[in-house]
Amino acid sequence: MTAILRAIQTPAIQCEAFLFNTARDAGVNLARLAAENDLTLLEYFLTDAAGHKANPANTARILAEADELIGGARDASNLANTLIVITSDHGNVEDATTRSHTRNPVPTILIGAQRERIASRIHALTDLAPALADLLAR
Ligand SMILES: [Zn+2]
Repeated sequence: MTAILRAIQTPAIQCEAFLFNTARDAGVNLARLAAENDLTLLEYFLTDAAGHKANPANTARILAEADELIGGARDASNLANTLIVITSDHGNVEDATTRSHTRNPVPTILIGAQRERIASRIHALTDLAPALADLLAR
């Protein structure tokens, strides 16, 4: 299995693309990048691509890969000072009856430092950026 990781880092905006042997390795590398920066963003677009294909077997494989990546990042992060945020700007992978984006609610999963404080502020996707900006300002 091969996973592609793209991360945008601050304060010096950088974009990195890597090729890893496993999704877990990509997650471990994501944790390494996050430890070096105030904010690290990973766009994991393979779930979107899987949703557009509406192929349940492919979707299951991609979701398993995403799970491995998240697990690698979680296990390699210092969760006492790192917050992992997992969310999406739309649904589509959850509904194999359509190849389009859906208007279904999407979860926001928070793992690690400050998760309760941030969770209490997240009621819509538009709440995420201000909550994270406040967290970064501390
Ligand atoms: Zn899409």
